[in-house]
Amino acid sequence: MITNRTFTMLKPDSVEKGNIGAILEKINAAGFRIVAMKLTHMTQRDAEAFYAIHKERPFFGELVQYMTRGPIVAAILEKDNAVEDFRALIGATNPAEAAEGTIRKLYATSISENAVHGSDSDENAAIEGAFHFATREMF
Ligand code: ATP
Ligand code: MG
Repeated sequence: MITNRTFTMLKPDSVEKGNIGAILEKINAAGFRIVAMKLTHMTQRDAEAFYAIHKERPFFGELVQYMTRGPIVAAILEKDNAVEDFRALIGATNPAEAAEGTIRKLYATSISENAVHGSDSDENAAIEGAFHFATREMF
């Protein structure tokens, strides 16, 4: 199991607001290396599959609509302790609760439009990276 990689998406609100450059700069400044990256537009089927774990939650429909309304930037990132360190860099799901200086504190609007995704485990980082990229780029 690879433990030094995580997966991220700069969500549609980040692309719409022109925040890609600023967010990537913070990611690089925090010591992450970009292993793979692409601009892509998730279909409804993609978003429903990616967030399948949340399908029973009341916000699922809103989440799928948000994630499909425009392009995202998907990327695989590398750093020691990548999953945990990246979750610290992005901050809490709700930007109102995110620590000062975190990406969500700086760039997220609300708990639903929260600028970035970060994998929550090594296992999910591998699954999510493979979802968006050919396995050749993961390993
Ligand atoms: P992500 O998985 O996108 O990195 P997260 O792990 O911090 O976010 P999750 O609990 O996995 O948070 O929720 C996935 C996404 O669903 C959130 O990032 C947000 O866009 C949306 N979401 C979560 N909770 C709510 C909520 N209470 N109301 C509306 N949207 C929500
Ligand atoms: Mg999550």
